[in-house]
Amino acid sequence: MVLQTIERRGVKDNAVLKSMRSVKRHLFVPETNVSNAYEDRPLPIGYGQTISQPFIVAYMTESIKPKPEYKVLEIGTGSGYQAAVLAEIVREVYTIEIVPELGNSAAARLKKLGYTNVNVSVKDGYFGWEEHGPFDAIVVTAAAEFVPPPLLEQLKEGGRMIIPIGSPFMNQMLMLVEKKGKKITTKSLMPVVFVPFTRKQD
Ligand code: SAH
Repeated sequence: MVLQTIERRGVKDNAVLKSMRSVKRHLFVPETNVSNAYEDRPLPIGYGQTISQPFIVAYMTESIKPKPEYKVLEIGTGSGYQAAVLAEIVREVYTIEIVPELGNSAAARLKKLGYTNVNVSVKDGYFGWEEHGPFDAIVVTAAAEFVPPPLLEQLKEGGRMIIPIGSPFMNQMLMLVEKKGKKITTKSLMPVVFVPFTRKQD
């Protein structure tokens, strides 16, 4: 049902569609929301955060052109759903969450589901994860006011980053950032609404 929406709205990459089919979203939402897990909308996961809308997850995953040999960095683990969708396709996923409770429960959930190729860290994702970079692609799932320079630095030559840019809860644009030689190109893809990229926990 969600898959029909996703395909109808233009996601074509077979590996992405296959992954969206195999990752069970109801395993990533709180019990009170399980019955809504297959609706195409974001859902609350606690701590003021949300699990993204399935179409957006599929669209962002497709936009980085994921390949099996890729090492991908995600900022904003949340429930771990986007990380799982990536982990079905690529070799290795590094994902960072700033809210300890969410990071820890996502790590436990991903382990329980058997994802041995996802590494979760609880810290400020602004600085990326230098020890494991550079990355073939970076997926940011919280809206930042600008592209954090450390993330750009940790992107491989020819790499792609997908990131919502804009003010909290309004006027955000999903941007595709590509690193080509010394040149950085950016492209606006579509207006979106994401929770804010925060710098330290309140
Ligand atoms: N990808 C998630 C959606 C998460 S919503 C999923 O599939 O469920 C965005 C997440 O980004 C929130 O959990 C929020 O706490 C986190 N976040 C916000 N700012 C951050 C930062 N600076 N570093 C790491 N995580 C951050």
